[in-house]
Parts: sequence; C-alpha cells; structure tokens
Amino acid sequence: MDGRDRMIEPALQERLKASYGALFSAVEAGLSAPHCVTLRANTLKASADEVADALSAAGIGYERVSWYEDAFRLPCATEDAVRALPLYEAGKVYLQSLSSMLPPLVLQPQAGENILDMTAAPGGKTTQLLALSKGKALITACERDNVRFERLRFNLERQGAARVNALHRDALTLDDALRFDKILLDAPCTGAGTVGARVTQGYLEKCVRAQKKLIHKALRLLKKGGTLVYSTCSIFPEENGGVVEEAVKCGAKIVPVEAFDVPRLPSPSGTLTVMPTCDHEGFFVAKLTK
Ligand code: SAM
Repeated sequence: MDGRDRMIEPALQERLKASYGALFSAVEAGLSAPHCVTLRANTLKASADEVADALSAAGIGYERVSWYEDAFRLPCATEDAVRALPLYEAGKVYLQSLSSMLPPLVLQPQAGENILDMTAAPGGKTTQLLALSKGKALITACERDNVRFERLRFNLERQGAARVNALHRDALTLDDALRFDKILLDAPCTGAGTVGARVTQGYLEKCVRAQKKLIHKALRLLKKGGTLVYSTCSIFPEENGGVVEEAVKCGAKIVPVEAFDVPRLPSPSGTLTVMPTCDHEGFFVAKLTK
C-alpha cells in the first residue's frame, strides 16, 4: 500500500454529497483509502507472464486482474520498489491505475487503424493503445504542455512506442480536414476521482468549458462511423455525463461500455463511472460513435 494522505477539500465533499447522496460515505472512504499499487505489463516489450516471473523473482507478491490479463495488483509493494526494478527501467511495465486502463480497452484499437490520442501526456494510455493493437495501429498523440510533452516523448521511447507520431500541439488547433478512425479524449479534468484535489466552482467550470471544446473538436476530427472514447479521472457529473450530452446534441450516439468487473457509481445510461476504492481511482468512460 502507498500511505499517501488524501485529504478531501470541503468544497469537493459538498459537490460529491450533492451528486451521490447515500453513496457519498463510500465515495469518501474510497477517496481517502491508501491506494494499492497497480501496473500494466507493457506487451510491446514483455509478456504478462514474463512480468509475473520477474515480480516473483524480486519477491514482490502480485494478483492478476480478472478483466485484463496485462494488469497486476501489488498489495504489499510501494511504487518506489517497482521503480527500482530493472523491469521498470527497461520499460517492460508501466505504473498505471486500474481505472485508467479502461479507456484504451473500450476503444479496442486494431492494426492499421488511424487513431488520435488527443490529450496524451504522460502517455500511459498512448502506449497501451499501441500495445493493444500489437504495435500495429497508426497512432498520433497530441499534447500542448511543454514539460508534459517531454515526459510523453520519454515514455514513448522507454516503452518501445517511438513509432507513435507525437505532436506538440494544442489539439484544438488540429486541421479540421484530418480524419481519424478512432479518437481517445482522456480529457484534462479536476482530478476529483483521485486525490483530494482543490476544486472550486470556478475551476470546475473552467474544466467543463475546456472539455466541451475538446469533445466538439474530437467529433469534427472523427470519421463518420468512427469511435470516440471520452474519459476523465473525475466523478463530477458535470465533467462526465454533462460533456457527453454535448456530443449527443451534435448527433453522436452512445455505445454501451462493456461490462468490466469494477465497482460502479450511478452513471448515465451506457456509460461507466468507477467508484473510488483502494484499488480503483474514481473514473468515467463513455463510448460514442459519429
Ligand atoms: N491520457 C494521459 C495518460 O493516460 O497518460 C493523461 C492525460 S491528462 C488527463 C490530460 C492532458 O491533456 C494533460 O497532459 C494536459 O496538458 C493536456 N491538454 C489539455 N488541454 C489540451 C489541449 N487543448 N490540447 C492538447 N493537450 C491538452
């Protein structure tokens, strides 16, 4: 377990109370719980079995995850212990929360597809998308922040994903003539499904404005019949169902997210809101088609 202290800001508590009523105490307990270290075997460089063997050899206990063969829970390890492993240095594993592994699984990237990861840094989902396509999807990863873009490039290199086309750009400025088969919009958000982020009404509204602009842009860049996955690590309905509603108003259709065995909060029909627990970040995933 990682013993980080997770204080929930009073403003955030009030928002969550209003949103989840009787479930609020479970949400609060989940957000405050020390989180279990989880990682993903990076199959661009190592099989999940190779990772399992290396963890055992290092004396690190693990559990596999029923809904994703590449995911591991390490109930007694720290992230620092994982970072000290040669396996980590070699990019054979990526420290990633279980919830954040869901959006690429929902997008189901296939060989030869032209895929945009619209807001990509630090790149955990970008490399997962490439791995899921067995290294054969044509992925463009866009990131506007300087420091985060460098982190993205570093991670792509280390994870064996240098063939991803990394664009240091504001995704809102991408040429509207471009077309993608699939888009992942893992949007910038308040982070209110993860740590006790300081969330004010103003910050929430700023995030929602940015999310709505980005989802409109994503719909313009998506091929007709293409798939868009929208996700956040927030459990505020305004950042989730509220933004998806904007897309639906523009003609997008919700495709029900498949059943993953994760704890859930109430969520608009067809979408998934993951309940924060010691094993899961609070997270939202919606799948849309144009
Ligand atoms: N998908 C990433 C991963 O799994 O590692 C996490 C993405 S994080 C939630 C959102 C990212 O979007 C941030 O790095 C932020 O700098 C970037 N961002 C925000 N607005 C953007 C924009 N208009 N264009 C490109 N990137 C943007």
